[in-house]
Amino acid sequence: MKLFSNSLPFYKANFHCHTTESDGKLSPLSVVKFYKQAGYDILSITDHRAVTEINSNQILLIPGIEIDYSLPEQWVHILGFGMKNTISTLWNRFGMPQEGINLIRSLGGIAVLAHPAWSLNTPAFMRSLTGLSGVEIWNSVSTLPINADRADSSSLLDVTWASGGELIPVFANDDSHSYQSEAGVAATMIQAEELSVPAVMNALKAGRFYGTTGPLIYQIENRNNQEIIVHCSPAESVIFYSNNPWASGRSVIGHDITECTYFVQKNERFIRVEVRDSAGKKAWSSPIRV
Ligand SMILES: [Zn+2]
Ligand SMILES: [Zn+2]
Repeated sequence: MKLFSNSLPFYKANFHCHTTESDGKLSPLSVVKFYKQAGYDILSITDHRAVTEINSNQILLIPGIEIDYSLPEQWVHILGFGMKNTISTLWNRFGMPQEGINLIRSLGGIAVLAHPAWSLNTPAFMRSLTGLSGVEIWNSVSTLPINADRADSSSLLDVTWASGGELIPVFANDDSHSYQSEAGVAATMIQAEELSVPAVMNALKAGRFYGTTGPLIYQIENRNNQEIIVHCSPAESVIFYSNNPWASGRSVIGHDITECTYFVQKNERFIRVEVRDSAGKKAWSSPIRV
C-alpha cells in the first residue's frame, strides 16, 4: 500500500500561525504576504481563541483557531481547522480539553494537538484523548531564542504510540508569532485533489501529508506489513522508528540516499520514518500501522 498518490501534487502548507488579532507581530494580510513570498500554497491563521476571518486570493486560507487549557501539570493547546468563528462564543476555556475537541468536531472541523513537548503533555494524557486528527511532531517557535528547545515532539510521541496511543498523522508547523527565525522554517506537505478548502479538508481527514523542515518525501510504500520502502530527496540518513527499542537496520546512513527499504521486525506495531539531509534538516512521516 502506497501512502501517497502518484498523481496528485504536494502543496506546501503552514497550519499554525498568529497575527495581530491575537499575539502575533504582523497583520493578517502581512502574514499572508509573508507565506506567499516564502513559497507556501496553503495557510491556516490560528489566532488564540478566535477564528480570524479574512479574504485573500494570494494563498489558500483554511479557517483555524487555537484553543488552550491550563491543567495542573500541563498545558493543552488544540488547533481547530475548518469551522466558523461561532466556536469562539461556544468554547468554555474552563472546561476540559476533550470538550474542546468534541466542539471543534461538532462544528464540522478537525482537531489537532499542538506542540505536546512544549506543553509537557504526558503520554497518559495524550492516550486519553479521542477524536484528534493529528498532532504536531514539530513546532518551529518551540526552540531558541524564544523558548527552551522543545520543538521536536517525536520521542514523546513514540512513547505515547508504543504504549497504545492512537496512531495519528503528524504536522510540522511554524506557530509563527514574531516572524523572525521561527517563520518559514517548517511545512506540512499535503496532497489534495485541488487547491480548495473542501479538498484540503478531505486531505487532512485522509492523513495524506507529512511534516518537514527541508527534505522531501515522495512516496512511502508499506509492502504487506513486511517492508517499508521510502523514496525521498537526497538524504544522509533515513531512520525507522518503532515500538521496538532495538532492531537491526533501523537506520540507513550514507550520501544522497533517495530510496531505501526497512524490513519490519517481529513485534513491531508501527513504523515512523524520519529523513535527514546534509544540513541536519528533517522530514517526518506519520506512524504507519504494521
Ligand atoms: Zn500553542
Ligand atoms: Zn500557536
